[in-house]
Amino acid sequence: MAKNQLNELYEKYRDPRITEKECLVDSAIATDLLKRLVEHTHSANFNSAEYAKLVQEICLTYHLSKGVSEFYQNVGFERRGEGEIFCDFDDGKGTILLLRNRIIANSGAVLVASIYVSEEAEVLSMEDYHNLDLMLNVIISFISRRRLQRVVEQYIFFDENGYPNVRYYLRELIRLQESGRLGGMIAVNFDLHNFAVINMDIGRENGNAVIQNYFNMLEEVIGDAGCICRLGGDKFLCVFSPAVKDDVIRILSGVAVAYDENIDRKVKVSAAAGVYVIPENAGVTKDNVMERIMIATNVAKKQDEGAIVFYDDQMKETREHVKTIQQKFREGLAKREFVIYCQPKVDIDTLEIIGTEALCRWIYNGRVVPPNEFIPVLEQTTDICDLDFYILDEACKSIRHYLDEGNFGVRCSVNFSRKHLTNPDLLENILKVVDENNVPHNLIEIELTETTTDAQFRDLKRIVNGLKAAGIRTAVDDFGIGYSSLNLIREIPWDVLKIDRCFVPKDEDDADSTTRKMFCHVVALAHDMGLECVVEGVETAKQIEILRENHCNIAQGFYFDKPLPKAEFKARLTKKNYKDRV
Ligand code: C2E
Ligand code: MG
Ligand code: MG
Repeated sequence: MAKNQLNELYEKYRDPRITEKECLVDSAIATDLLKRLVEHTHSANFNSAEYAKLVQEICLTYHLSKGVSEFYQNVGFERRGEGEIFCDFDDGKGTILLLRNRIIANSGAVLVASIYVSEEAEVLSMEDYHNLDLMLNVIISFISRRRLQRVVEQYIFFDENGYPNVRYYLRELIRLQESGRLGGMIAVNFDLHNFAVINMDIGRENGNAVIQNYFNMLEEVIGDAGCICRLGGDKFLCVFSPAVKDDVIRILSGVAVAYDENIDRKVKVSAAAGVYVIPENAGVTKDNVMERIMIATNVAKKQDEGAIVFYDDQMKETREHVKTIQQKFREGLAKREFVIYCQPKVDIDTLEIIGTEALCRWIYNGRVVPPNEFIPVLEQTTDICDLDFYILDEACKSIRHYLDEGNFGVRCSVNFSRKHLTNPDLLENILKVVDENNVPHNLIEIELTETTTDAQFRDLKRIVNGLKAAGIRTAVDDFGIGYSSLNLIREIPWDVLKIDRCFVPKDEDDADSTTRKMFCHVVALAHDMGLECVVEGVETAKQIEILRENHCNIAQGFYFDKPLPKAEFKARLTKKNYKDRV
């Protein structure tokens, strides 16, 4: 080292422990240590265990007793000793501070690196001292970089409440994949069941405590071999080894979770979970994992409380089928591939057609596709609403055309999905279609099904009232299946009650059977409430007899006709009745 540099150092430290004697550490070894320290602390594949080993090696080579690095957010924190302090090496004898480098960064953060020696330690040469000085500076720049990385990491991989987020999860999947450990692991996406209700019952703050405790429970079970992350709200992702599968599934299926340990308050928490057991050696990527757990979760969410659904390839096919329908639907609508088939409603006393129901069919590639193959799919989005309005428009056009030909009018009912209920303009939109086609309101009937929530019930009530005021009739469809409540018919001013075919007695049901008794009472109830009663799915002469016995005179079913293409229906309508058939 040049003389003036040594002098500078001497000036800088004025330390009696520095002499101009020969170096303690051979200069080639010192250079190698410094080089390795720089390379290691700047490498992208930083490994903390190796770093600690290197610091240890430096301390041992220079006969140091202790090496400490410190980080403080600012000098105030430093004064109070509130920071991150790492002791990378300590043989317990380091009583004398040999060197302490301290830097205040532009951000105000304070970075310190210090080394200590014991009383008996050998005196160092200027050059040793200089090399250690350089090494401490490298360590300081490294601490600041690590800290910066941690701050960035905190922002990128954790949410505002400190839960690891979806990016954390994806990084974990990539790590597992790159290290060849993804195959055999189990990935899960889950939503807590009914958490909105839990929040309402116990309050948001307690709700947060429940989430935290539930999360901790799973985190503890999963351990270091996997991870659990929060997607947001009550949605989570986790990946874990098969060894803990049973424990995780048990927690997901439902456990009591404490939210106030002082008074031992607990609430039951369960999840709707999509599980994917990742096959070994199948080259599965993180994207495959994400796709498959989401597919399984969607299936789980449609099931009851605490449903745990394991992914299988069949689900993917179903999902692709769904996607194809959703894609082809727009095109089909534009090409007018949807048509109405009409099923007559018949007065069983006079055998006259008193009305019809417009039922949708999709003419796709020459095949007549029945609604159960596409309506449930369209109901997953609001596509169904566009279809319903299209069918209403088609029905109105047919009625207008029929009237214009000088025929008598027959009332036509159109099905409207529950999906419409949140549309505040539904009533206006229906009236607009009917009026634009210049169809008398009394020839249109809207069939709606029962609802499941209070909010939907209120919307339903508002819409039925509005339609009634506009002179358009309404029918409650499929009465008897699902969650029909008596409130539905007591509080909403329907015109018609359509009894679902599962409620209609079969030929083999004798007069004492529960089905016969229930049917009799439901019909009586409808009549008492002033509702017109239409029985769906009437297939046999015996069923017609049962209807007659119960003074229920309107039937719709295969006994008279299946839903007919428009031309066939028109032919039947011109005959006006079924006297020729019965
Ligand atoms: P829905 O409104 O209850 O219609 C009655 C269903 O019962 C029709 O099935 C009809 O063909 C069937 N059916 C009638 N009589 C009998 C019978 O005697 N025996 C048997 N086994 N079945 C009978 P379809 O046409 O397949 O329609 C099924 C469901 O699809 C409809 O049930 C309705 O919920 C829905 N749907 C049809 N078209 C539309 C539409 O344009 N919009 C909406 N939102 N839903 C529609
Ligand atoms: Mg219907
Ligand atoms: Mg029905």
